[in-house]
Amino acid sequence: MNDDIKKILLTQEEIAAKVKELGDILSEEYRDKNPLVICVLKGAVLFMADLIRQMNIPCEMDFMAVSSYGSGTESSGMVKILKDLDTSVQNRHVLVVEDIMDSGLTLSRLVELLRHREAASVKVVTLLNKPERRKVDISPDYSGFTIPDEFVVGYGLDYAERYRNLPYIGVLKPEVYTK
Ligand code: 5GP
Ligand code: MG
Ligand code: MG
Repeated sequence: MNDDIKKILLTQEEIAAKVKELGDILSEEYRDKNPLVICVLKGAVLFMADLIRQMNIPCEMDFMAVSSYGSGTESSGMVKILKDLDTSVQNRHVLVVEDIMDSGLTLSRLVELLRHREAASVKVVTLLNKPERRKVDISPDYSGFTIPDEFVVGYGLDYAERYRNLPYIGVLKPEVYTK
């Protein structure tokens, strides 16, 4: 285990089992719909890569980068598009893949935008969900794990751009924030 990690919340094996479970459900849901699967960069990139390999149906992928946080651990409430899609979503069944739903601000803005662009349907799958922290009325259509209100890293999630490559999800030692 990485020296900066206080405890492991979800092991590599637990994540893989959950991703397989979600992949099975989504394969059923999106059979014959050729969904456009949108990865919200950068945090969701590992989840997205594993998830689509568990979806044994035709699908396409695209990427979007938005910023709501700056470098800290609190949402600013503003969502800025840093990188937009290459693909038109008009009349497409869109599945947004997120690493974590926290305040919900990022996803509520994103879903609103995709609906405005006339997607045929917009659904959200998030690996992690922190419902205690919600500031807007939104819940994911599909969610891997509900977790307590702790700042987590690994499996795509960062603190100041680090720890994304950890194969598990863990909680940082407090001294990492304060040093
Ligand atoms: P929301 O707009 O729902 O507050 O925030 C969503 C984004 O905030 C996530 O996609 C993620 O980038 C970041 N975030 C929220 N909670 C955590 C957390 O516990 N750990 C990390 N590393 N990022 C988080
Ligand atoms: Mg994210
Ligand atoms: Mg981040």
